[in-house]
Amino acid sequence: MGKTGYFTHPDCRRHEMGPGHPECPERLDAIEDRLLVTGVGDALERREAPMATPENITLAHARRHVEAIDELRTRLAKHIADGGRAYAQIDPDTSLNGSSWNAAMRASGAVIAAVDAVMSGELENAFCAVRPPGHHACHDRSMGFCIFNQVAVGARYAIQQHGLKRVAIVDFDVHHGNGTEDILSDDPRVLMVGIFQHPFYPGTGYDSPADNMVNVPVPAYTKGDVIRGLIEKNWMPRLEEFKPEMIFISAGFDAHREDDLGQLGLVEADYTWMTQRIKEVANKYSQGRIVSSLEGGYNLSALGRSVEAHLRALADL
Ligand SMILES: [Zn+2]
Repeated sequence: MGKTGYFTHPDCRRHEMGPGHPECPERLDAIEDRLLVTGVGDALERREAPMATPENITLAHARRHVEAIDELRTRLAKHIADGGRAYAQIDPDTSLNGSSWNAAMRASGAVIAAVDAVMSGELENAFCAVRPPGHHACHDRSMGFCIFNQVAVGARYAIQQHGLKRVAIVDFDVHHGNGTEDILSDDPRVLMVGIFQHPFYPGTGYDSPADNMVNVPVPAYTKGDVIRGLIEKNWMPRLEEFKPEMIFISAGFDAHREDDLGQLGLVEADYTWMTQRIKEVANKYSQGRIVSSLEGGYNLSALGRSVEAHLRALADL
């Protein structure tokens, strides 16, 4: 039985988007507290997330987009130095502060380092406790609390750097992973399976736009038993057929029934079940290789408990 890695960095806590924003630094504290009090943290191999390079980010994003965010943060740094505004707005929900660039680079760096460690066999699987989240970040646009798409970067990195021919992405965040879909639609080396509330933000995902995108939209107030049935029916045959060499998880926990940003009815046992089902596929086809990265999850208590359940399943605790 291999080890489970836990990648994070203090820079991911320094990114914040203003008072009252649900995508807040305290999310990482809630996870850390829960792992500490339950002892789950002791069973994980903790590693510091390195910085990705802008070159790494262009695996998934247009170079002009990476440069535009870099220019925005340079202008913001000048404003901050002059005693001016502390945030640079990207969309109504998404902004940069003085630490956001480094946080975003650590988020992609965490996933890349996790891929390297899992591919080398040092770790069996890994979870990246990072912010900002990434799955709404499109090829040439940041949006929806996301700056760069670390799971898409990591998937392309695994393909290019490690020569993998088939990688799967599983997204169980309450919101559709429109950014990942935008970047990886029609890339035959990738299969993405997702389940999300619909109609809901960001309004996409009702139709599967490409053969490699398996979208399962579900109405508000759908509960875990129904979602498990839909996953068995829609995800599992496609994953079995695809035989992924590595599996990424866009691990959002905002489909929890206590999370007010969504209206789905998952509980901790559902996150355990989903993680175990993904592990079964990984053990069969992928030598157990899973790299999971935090996306949403805004009720702090539910987030801590759900990540604990996810990690217990990943680490066989
Ligand atoms: Zn979400």
